[in-house]
Amino acid sequence: MKHRSLFTKAVHAGEDRAENFGALSTPIYNASVFAFENADEAAAIHNHVKPGYYYGRLGNPTQETLEKAVADLEGADDALAFASGMAAISAAILTVAKSGDHIVALESMYSTTTSLLNHLAENFGLEVTYVDATDPENYRQAARPSTKLFWIETPSNPVLNVTDISAVCGIAKENGIVTCADNTFATPFNQNPLSLGADLVVHSATKYLGGHSDLTAGILAGDSSIVEEARMKTTRYFGGNIAPQVAWLVMRGIKTLALRMDKHNQNAYAVAHMLSDHPKVDAVFYPGFGDHPGHTYAVKQMRGFGGMVAFDVGGIEAGKRFINALELVSIATSLGGVESIIQHSASMTHASLSPEARKLAGISDGMMRFSVGVEDMEDILDDLRSALEAV
Ligand SMILES: *Cc1c(COP(=O)(O)O)cnc(C)c1O
Repeated sequence: MKHRSLFTKAVHAGEDRAENFGALSTPIYNASVFAFENADEAAAIHNHVKPGYYYGRLGNPTQETLEKAVADLEGADDALAFASGMAAISAAILTVAKSGDHIVALESMYSTTTSLLNHLAENFGLEVTYVDATDPENYRQAARPSTKLFWIETPSNPVLNVTDISAVCGIAKENGIVTCADNTFATPFNQNPLSLGADLVVHSATKYLGGHSDLTAGILAGDSSIVEEARMKTTRYFGGNIAPQVAWLVMRGIKTLALRMDKHNQNAYAVAHMLSDHPKVDAVFYPGFGDHPGHTYAVKQMRGFGGMVAFDVGGIEAGKRFINALELVSIATSLGGVESIIQHSASMTHASLSPEARKLAGISDGMMRFSVGVEDMEDILDDLRSALEAV
């Protein structure tokens, strides 16, 4: 196929007009069950000898269009859509690893992934080692004969650490270990982990792929033997399948992914620079800065630095005063929508932890996680500047 720009791919990925009477927008198949012509066809489709649909939990044409779209954008053989990012993440882990197996994951990453791994370790006999993922050699050091999975998340949530994807995947390949990268923050617009050697990629489509803060969804893409095993086992047994209406909404979001990401990248770049020059801001974490510890890797593996910026305004009280003074930017916990959204971890998601425990998680008391929206750049900068006056 002709090589096309991501701006073009995002608009057309997955579309199949021949199947849909020429419709430019794939219809929503509100169907939980599909009838067969006869007994032989029923047997063939049920046994996956012939392609087709038979029951909603195992897929439908709207879901499949979304899966093809994300597979196209990520350069994957295959993809599977879920009702949330965590459903995709748990399916990846439960498909690759079983009781007694070992996983190496990041010390600092999306906190519910950490909680899931801890839960699987405490209750289901999985073994997990957490490493500082900014040095790929830590994955090699932690690997054991029983290691089945290296987990990567880059840039990481919330502190924007960067992992050298191809180095970690190289170590994994030498040792027969599967690598899965959470590409939620970067999106396929900025980074394609599969092209850097990862076997699997997961997304919380709730964030940038959906892009409008109006749904929860997840995607697992990559090696088709693993993805199809996830479809036939994890999704079949645990459920977690995406609803057709939601699959359609994610596709609607993906059509403008490139446009939105381009603007998120530009706005975040401007925000990071304004903040780093501001006297009331102690530190700014943004992989686009030359002095960010992961900048060299970011330049090597990313086409843009993404829409997320973390920064420190000095302490808990300063943090509260700052978010209370914002007018345009919303105080909320998600990210990746068109709207600018800010989270003050110490007074919100991590408020129940002691200051020491927060420090261990890499979250200082004045740390903000800012999902820079696609509003006018000057309006966003103005809102931040005037709220910083209150700090
Ligand atoms: C939000 C998020 C998830 C979880 O996705 P849900 O859609 O909320 O289940 C996983 N990884 C990262 C990096 C996230 O930001």
